[in-house]
Amino acid sequence: VPPTSNAHRHALDPSGVIEVPQRLLMGPGPANAHPRILAAQSLPLLGHMHPPFLKIMDEISEGLRYCLQTDSKYTLMVSGTGHAGMEAAIANLLEPGEKIIVGNKGIWGQRVADLAARYGGDVVELKAEAGRSFSLAEMTAALEKHRPAVLFLCQGESSTGVHQSLAGLGEVCKRTGTLLLVDTVCSLGGVPFYFDEWGVDCMYSGSQKCLSAPPGGAPFAMSARAMEKLKGRKTKPATYNLDMNLIGDYWGCLITVNTIKVPAGVDWAAVVKNAMDRYSLEIAGGLGPTAGKVWRVGLMGYNARPQNVALVVEAFRDGLAKQGKL
Ligand code: PMP
Repeated sequence: VPPTSNAHRHALDPSGVIEVPQRLLMGPGPANAHPRILAAQSLPLLGHMHPPFLKIMDEISEGLRYCLQTDSKYTLMVSGTGHAGMEAAIANLLEPGEKIIVGNKGIWGQRVADLAARYGGDVVELKAEAGRSFSLAEMTAALEKHRPAVLFLCQGESSTGVHQSLAGLGEVCKRTGTLLLVDTVCSLGGVPFYFDEWGVDCMYSGSQKCLSAPPGGAPFAMSARAMEKLKGRKTKPATYNLDMNLIGDYWGCLITVNTIKVPAGVDWAAVVKNAMDRYSLEIAGGLGPTAGKVWRVGLMGYNARPQNVALVVEAFRDGLAKQGKL
């Protein structure tokens, strides 16, 4: 097909060289990528399951943990732009019928409200006129009134240029049984962010703003509380591609301490004792609210190997058989 206009020239250039104009990107994003990142993009491709690639993924998680100031192991990149992070957060944190308060002070709040409604959420919008952020007192009153499952706030509202303070909010959210979700697409790496200290439960971001990379990777993190909620959902997230159970498995966020419910009539302590006496194997009973109700089996670090799993299963089989429960 002969080129019909200049617009087709690059794609059909027989030399294969694509000309892209130099621009200084000083708008709300994307920003220009750092030269080191552009250079890294010309490195050879690796298979997504090859050990050197998995090592790079580990390094990315570690770097993100520093960037977010968190120890959470549920720290990874979602493939896609900031919108993919946004959708992943809503789809995983919110179950149909649950309440979400959306702090709406610009485009991004509006978009999250739309998304949450599409996922069956009961959306309560907390509105502020353009140019204003929400005060802690205002958010506390809304949380205490509605006691929602999730509170959404945008740290850097790029449509109005407003910064949202988050300090102090985590404690209120814990009190009202709410997960705190924060959009940092436009702010991460540009202004301080303290995931753990502020008690944030879920955060998504974008790569093409303060992190100076091309778009296509959305930094994403969940707290242990958010992960617990995900594991205890009554319904599966209505997205396959962005299901954090599946993405988390790929990134190696496996559950490390597994709780197994003790069936009625079983002496849990006898199973623990038998595992130690017969197999020199330590497993534990419940703790606090789970005392007497569960066993706790750790799968961590060097111990997370198939032969150890097989031994644990055998010890359970034997312990239960000795009580005539198998
Ligand atoms: N949230 C905010 C605050 C943003 O500024 C943007 C992008 N302008 C987004 C979300 C959406 O991110 P993306 O364009 O990477 O999908």
